[in-house]
Amino acid sequence: MPELPEVETLVRSLKVLVGEMITQIVVLNKKSFIGDPRQVIGLKISNVERRGKYIRLRFVSGEYLFIHLRMSGRLFFKSQFKEGTKHEHVVIYLSSHRALIFHDTRKFGRIEFVKDAKDVEDKLGFEPFDEKLTPSVMEQYFKKKTKCIKTMLLDQKFIAGLGNIYVDETLFEAHIHPLTLCASLKTKQIKSILESIRKVLNRGIDSQGTSLGNGLNNYSLLDGSLGMHQSKLKVYKRENQSCSICKTIIKKIKVAQRGTHFCPSCQRTN
Ligand SMILES: [Zn+2]
Repeated sequence: MPELPEVETLVRSLKVLVGEMITQIVVLNKKSFIGDPRQVIGLKISNVERRGKYIRLRFVSGEYLFIHLRMSGRLFFKSQFKEGTKHEHVVIYLSSHRALIFHDTRKFGRIEFVKDAKDVEDKLGFEPFDEKLTPSVMEQYFKKKTKCIKTMLLDQKFIAGLGNIYVDETLFEAHIHPLTLCASLKTKQIKSILESIRKVLNRGIDSQGTSLGNGLNNYSLLDGSLGMHQSKLKVYKRENQSCSICKTIIKKIKVAQRGTHFCPSCQRTN
């Protein structure tokens, strides 16, 4: 599933949409679009931004189109749209005479039209790079929590943008066991977690994201090319391989129903 680095990569290449007007929109799968698509026609795009794992198209009119790729959503341009394949669920025609295609094999992805960004963003916590997110803010938050750190970092209401890949990589970087209880974390460890989140996300963005899926489910850039971060992963999907630091075999366990990868030597519980 695309996480912050993948979405950020797409947003950067979608900046070409700024100044374009939506001339027509065709929704081929009703579930893929929330709201009335007719209201989007004639709106001019003033910016393309990211919020958590959402792509946010801002219109000059003050309204928004939020795109969440979920498991397998992909976006690409077609110069002339004729007949769609069965996985092409939304077609957005642009004033430049090309079309932005929303392709989604598993159909969990959504495009949502809202008058007010709050309708979507109220559910989202801190942006990981927000300077208001500090170790002391995290510490205050963690004090009251009975959850373990892996579950906490996946919670979009706390930090928006992290998913399974980058949480596992963050906790390896910070030398923290994924089952460590939030309330037991020491100040030094929390500081290290925050630094690791930012380091790991920046590494993902620099490599244009992680493409670890299969075929049409895989994350790809707008031009269809793949991200390059998969070769830089240190624990995620590396179970039974040796740790790059200590050579211990990397383990995989389940935490909150999610496959969780860690080094039992480098990452210990408190
Ligand atoms: Zn290790």
